[in-house]
Amino acid sequence: LTTPRPLIAGNWKMFGLEASLDEARAVAAAVAQTPPAARVAICPPATLLHRMSEALSGESVIVGGQDCHAAPQGAYTGDISAPMLADAGATLVILGHSERRGSYDETCEEVSAKVLAALAAGLEPVICLGETLVQREAGQAEPIVTGQARDSLPDDLAGQAFAVAYEPVWAIGTGLTPTVADIGAIHAAIRAVLVERFGDHGASVPILYGGSVKPENAAEILATPEVGGALVGGASLKAKDFLAIIAAA
Ligand code: PEP
Repeated sequence: LTTPRPLIAGNWKMFGLEASLDEARAVAAAVAQTPPAARVAICPPATLLHRMSEALSGESVIVGGQDCHAAPQGAYTGDISAPMLADAGATLVILGHSERRGSYDETCEEVSAKVLAALAAGLEPVICLGETLVQREAGQAEPIVTGQARDSLPDDLAGQAFAVAYEPVWAIGTGLTPTVADIGAIHAAIRAVLVERFGDHGASVPILYGGSVKPENAAEILATPEVGGALVGGASLKAKDFLAIIAAA
């Protein structure tokens, strides 16, 4: 079995205007000059997707969306479908981010339907899972996350390119991170679900860690067993910080 390259994905969330494309160009230029061990993705807000994919055309930085609707098209004001993301140049999409599960009450069933839509459009889904602080303090982190994994990953993922991201909700944007032992334990539990569901393929699916990954803690986190990359929010907005994290993979 070949171990896939780690994936370092930047989630720009609702940050970034045209000028921010310079940060993406700087990342692409550095990646071209010194090819990293990891695959690198940037997921900008939807308004920048097309311009970013044009700006990075021919570069080895993947451009991705941050969400998609489960339907290919329809009367869904304000939403964006998976074929639309692909049409704008995306080849990857983040799904089930805790900010979507939290602010829009997205359920695992909805996330699973979005995964099917992403696959149908040829996009690589990065499916996010993670417990809240209340759940962790109640000792429920592992059953919550493995339950989300079972319910958010449709059987159709068998044999397809996808990644899972463990993102404890309380670690996102807070500067807090679990211990590497805690990260390793949850990643091992997710791995067990992936192997149970998808056999050998499940053994090689990258499991990213996300939540306050910074240049200072990236090397330690990325060296943790079963950590196959990082999903990076705040620290992906500046090329310098993001490149330092990429170099740590
Ligand atoms: C995220 O939004 O996926 C994330 C991990 O954010 P941050 O790195 O800012 O905690």
